[in-house]
Amino acid sequence: AQSRPIDISALAENLRGGDRAALARAITLVESVRPDHQVAARQLVQALLPHTGRAMRVGVTGVPGVGKSTTIDTLGHNLVQAGHKVAVLAVDPSSTRTGGSILGDKTRMAKLSPERNAFIRPSPSSGTLGGVAAKTRETMLLCEAAGFDVVIVETVGIGQSETTVADMTDFFLVLMLPGAGDELQGIKKGVLEIADMIAVNKSEGEGRNRAVAAAGEYRAALHIMQPASHNWSPPVVLVSGLDNIGLNEMWGQVVEHRRRFEASGEFAQKRRAQQVKWMWTMLEDRIYGRLRRDPQVKARLPELERRVAEGALSPTLAVEDLAALLGI
Ligand code: GDP
Repeated sequence: AQSRPIDISALAENLRGGDRAALARAITLVESVRPDHQVAARQLVQALLPHTGRAMRVGVTGVPGVGKSTTIDTLGHNLVQAGHKVAVLAVDPSSTRTGGSILGDKTRMAKLSPERNAFIRPSPSSGTLGGVAAKTRETMLLCEAAGFDVVIVETVGIGQSETTVADMTDFFLVLMLPGAGDELQGIKKGVLEIADMIAVNKSEGEGRNRAVAAAGEYRAALHIMQPASHNWSPPVVLVSGLDNIGLNEMWGQVVEHRRRFEASGEFAQKRRAQQVKWMWTMLEDRIYGRLRRDPQVKARLPELERRVAEGALSPTLAVEDLAALLGI
């Protein structure tokens, strides 16, 4: 396709000036699979890097229907009213598999979306979870360079998506439904391990008592776990995204966490570790992609797999055979 070369420095400048069209265009480049776009996107992100990193990065998860959209809409609106610039991004692995999205249409965020100081972007919808996450990360950097000081990354509990989002954010918020007992069974232990806070949503009105009971169970469950930092015990709060109850207190905890982690040095340390981990993840994805696409490996795999499955060939020898094809 014929197209004009992209003027990276002009795009970077416009983006930093708060031009929304420039931000949207930059994100399109980051998400594009076109090789020339990818080259431009890499240059752009590198050029903007000094202007990134200043946002509060908050991950939000919870089962479909828990109220992520509603809660982010209300919370985001509160934050915009308080003078923040809020970006909402999503990591939705279902969109890469089926083309459909569990997180759905972000225009659902009716209060936040018309705000000048809000930017809502659905999940990138192609590639592996790693690919989607890499694009979301870069989009987060673009938003930061554009002056957004709060970036919320929403996800659903599919596969590794929660860990992936926790690895790109400073604070990981888990939304839960009210209701005790049975519901606790449904919590994956892994998600409690990475939660920095649990918010029991829908805790208004008649839901209040059940929410209080649920909060007690979640507190007990968290209590028997080793917290990731001795500076932070994940709190359990009661909120209503629909009625805007408890959201300021909830945000207060995010701010307090940031304050404590900055004071202890854990904040900078966590960000540094995330950067390096991200580099490795991308490198591993790339090497894995190369392995999967290699024509010799592809030709050889069916027979090797069959013989390994039948017990005729040891897995170790099969690996030696494949590794030799790749020269590793
Ligand atoms: P998501 O799938 O997690 O994004 O959930 P949604 O935000 O789409 O909410 C799912 C349903 O729960 C919708 O019908 C919302 O109106 C409702 N809902 C969300 N938050 C609350 C709340 O705080 N209280 C009540 N009663 N309903 C809520």
